[in-house]
Amino acid sequence: MSISGLTYLDHNATTPIKPAVLEKMQEMLGFPGNASAIHKAGREARRRIEQARGEIAAALHTGSRDVIVFTAGATEANNLALLGCGMERVIVSAIEHPSVLNAVPQAEVLPVLQSGIVDVAALDAMLEGNTQQTLISVMCVNNETGVIQPIDQIVAIARKRGALVHTDAVQAFGKIPLDVQKLGADFITLSAHKMGGPQGVGCLVIANCAVVAPMIRGGNQEKNIRSGTENLPGIVAFGHAATLIDTDRYQQLAIWRDKIEAAIKAAAPEVIIFGAGSLRIANTTMFALPGASSETQLISLDLAGICVSNGSACSSGTVKPSHVLKAMGADDAAAGASLRVSLGWNTTEQEVDHFIAQWLKMYARVKQRTGT
Ligand code: PMP
Repeated sequence: MSISGLTYLDHNATTPIKPAVLEKMQEMLGFPGNASAIHKAGREARRRIEQARGEIAAALHTGSRDVIVFTAGATEANNLALLGCGMERVIVSAIEHPSVLNAVPQAEVLPVLQSGIVDVAALDAMLEGNTQQTLISVMCVNNETGVIQPIDQIVAIARKRGALVHTDAVQAFGKIPLDVQKLGADFITLSAHKMGGPQGVGCLVIANCAVVAPMIRGGNQEKNIRSGTENLPGIVAFGHAATLIDTDRYQQLAIWRDKIEAAIKAAAPEVIIFGAGSLRIANTTMFALPGASSETQLISLDLAGICVSNGSACSSGTVKPSHVLKAMGADDAAAGASLRVSLGWNTTEQEVDHFIAQWLKMYARVKQRTGT
């Protein structure tokens, strides 16, 4: 399905809301109850919020003592975990989202290998003889490359060294099975708009009886961890999106992801696919075409109605090469020539074919221009 005639292949940035989720949300937008009120409308709002909490808990297989705190998205949940946990020492991986990296600029940085996987041995060494209260933050799945991180190994090291673990599972939820009890992490961040829900709502799961101090103080909502009237339509929609998760079906996207990579590699063997040999989620490919800047490629595809993203973060008018690719050892030229294609629940094979055809046309133009 295309969105207003566009071929939308940027699901890791945001996923279009699923129609059934939108319907639930619209129903709640017209509902007047404040979940803190004691009258019937308030009680109904509370019931719907608790139902949504239960739906997310079921999708995550949380334990009875795990707490789900709704937030205004993953950025807030990441900040809440990292700043609210009150640890003396924080270690973050080099490929975290800016909402982790910028929340704790003083954090020590755990390197990643060329494969895009965090250096587990380096973490073990960093924690040798550790006596400080420590939090380790490593994402479940990287948003740029789709590489799945070994959270079980991180947790095992943390347990051995007495540290806590936070994982930003935004890009994992709905894409691969996520079992909070098996995962073992103490804090887990989720966001609704990466899995068919609306923007502006997410949650922090607090497991293993871990403790966080609130960042937003007020009327003591959300067990006094996150004050403010709950986003009823957003939370209800988030819960409903969680009931629609089908990770087996999602896995099918790998066929189309592989089709894109095979077509591009066949025409342009010089293309570098990041994290290709690593375990990746099904929907994501990130690759560089040496000699063609990300911006040129993006604009060319945009003109053909295709929405994809690059690996560069644009801030204050300057385009910086992706910190993720740089951490994986890519040079500025490769990092600055990268594109990320991320498929999703409403992607069709026609869209995949359209992308391939347009990318190949663009490649022909680049070759012609550079005379190679
Ligand atoms: N973490 C990751 C891995 C993400 O991909 C994103 C969204 N780009 C976020 C955090 C931030 O999520 P939100 O938009 O809900 O604040």
